[in-house]
Amino acid sequence: MPRIIIIGGGISGLATAYFLRREAPGLDLLLVEGELQLGGTMGSEMVDGFVFERGPNGFLDNVQHTLELAREIGLGERLRVASPSMNNRYIFKNGKLHLLPNSPLAFFRSPILSLRGRLRVLFEPFQPAAPEGVEDSVASFGRRRIGEEAVRALLDPLVTGIHAGDVERLSLPSAFPRIAELEANYGSLVKGMIRLRRERKARQRAEGKSAPESSPEKEPEKSPENAPGPAGPGGRFWSFAGGLEELVEMLKAKLGERVRLRWKAASVRREGSGFRIEDPGGAKEAADGVVLALPSYRAASLFASSDPETARALEAIPYAPIAAVCMGFPRQAVRHSLDGFGLLVPRDQGLRLLGSIWVSSIFPEHAPPDMVSLRCMIGGARDPDALNLSDGNLQEIILDELRPILGIEGPPAPVRIFRYSRGIPQYNLGHRQRIERIERRLWNLPGIFLTGNAFYGISINDCVKEAWRKARAIKEFFRK
Ligand SMILES: Cc1cc2nc3c(=O)[nH]c(=O)nc-3n(C[C@H](O)[C@H](O)[C@H](O)COP(=O)(O)OP(=O)(O)OC[C@H]3O[C@@H](n4cnc5c(N)ncnc54)[C@H](O)[C@@H]3O)c2cc1C
Repeated sequence: MPRIIIIGGGISGLATAYFLRREAPGLDLLLVEGELQLGGTMGSEMVDGFVFERGPNGFLDNVQHTLELAREIGLGERLRVASPSMNNRYIFKNGKLHLLPNSPLAFFRSPILSLRGRLRVLFEPFQPAAPEGVEDSVASFGRRRIGEEAVRALLDPLVTGIHAGDVERLSLPSAFPRIAELEANYGSLVKGMIRLRRERKARQRAEGKSAPESSPEKEPEKSPENAPGPAGPGGRFWSFAGGLEELVEMLKAKLGERVRLRWKAASVRREGSGFRIEDPGGAKEAADGVVLALPSYRAASLFASSDPETARALEAIPYAPIAAVCMGFPRQAVRHSLDGFGLLVPRDQGLRLLGSIWVSSIFPEHAPPDMVSLRCMIGGARDPDALNLSDGNLQEIILDELRPILGIEGPPAPVRIFRYSRGIPQYNLGHRQRIERIERRLWNLPGIFLTGNAFYGISINDCVKEAWRKARAIKEFFRK
């Protein structure tokens, strides 16, 4: 019976192990996780009745990968969808919050852009597509299609909210592949979206369906393989009654004895037709196949002595640091109605705060009654030095900036700060070439499989989809 070791117990490793167990019950599986707890950046802390998320806050249903997995493992009853007010998103500009317009008419009336800036956006369908073979940054794409002002006021904060990255450096086709495809296929985002909506409606009519694509009533896809990857906000936002920790715990329960905690892999090298994995103390594990479900820089360290070229290729993926400051307040201490998902701050507004998510408005169960829960992000590619600040300083900066915007009085309690010095992998210009280089190196090591958010998509949905694809690939590999 071939033995597979999965290194890394974040959502990528957990989902890969779960799908492998389901798809190939004949394989001998072991998942090793360096820490005492599973989940990696995904997980929740319960503090005085608040559910504070360590990393991700939820997942979208524009594709069904995570939703389908949650239902399959028995978490259907525990799923919670964000309250409808989450469609309100605010942008901070010139000292005030402005509702992000969600219809063409609202856009035209919105003061987020000057009249000239709005007219420029309206000319989007008439702009040229990217020249053949040119890799656009998110900013160069935006400048061409909707103009400089919209890049600064809209694209920059929206992209920061997902990637904590720099729009000048992020690669459009790698970070937002569906948007790049829309332009390539239809010559314009507006034309593409209109065409896609028409096609979807026609399909629904033909199939006698009336439910919208993102409805949970929609039959989950039979397999995530052929579904398009997510490219940004879209669909509804989901979590669980007790936070995302529930997904981690249920996957852990399903894997049972196949999980080993506090076993940190220090090196992987070829041995015979398989591999030898060692921990820092020299304890060894043998495997016929190895899944690397790790941040790329951690995967790199496993090859540092056995294959420095592969280590260098893996190390080349940059990361942005990020800190999440989670705070509770009595409801009456916050003047703003908090009627939305939260707020985002464009870089040119001079704040260090990147954005604030109004958790208790999105998932009311995640805060005690009469309390509100705010989660603020700071750092990112824009402000990496923020991660050098003490907890006290981080909290002070955020509160100084947030108090006048939301009308907050009094101190927060409780507070939890989660820091990631290498938090979010950056799919910067050249990402595809970096991935190809890594894949070419790994062709020399058949039996090693790569997954995780550094490579094929950063969202939870992307990680679950890739886990499924890798489980299928491993099954095929060992069938031969
Ligand atoms: C602050 C923040 C907010 C986010 N918000 C969202 C969101 O709202 N929605 C969304 O879809 N996505 C979000 N994301 C992205 C999403 O959380 C991640 O892409 C996803 O959780 C990554 O999972 P992973 O398993 O690939 O990696 P990780 O979670 O990094 O897991 C890797 C695991 O490997 C273990 N490990 C490392 N080295 C070793 C070793 N040598 N031996 C053994 N084990 C090892 C680690 O301890 C860890 O458990 C967010 C990310 C961050 C940081």
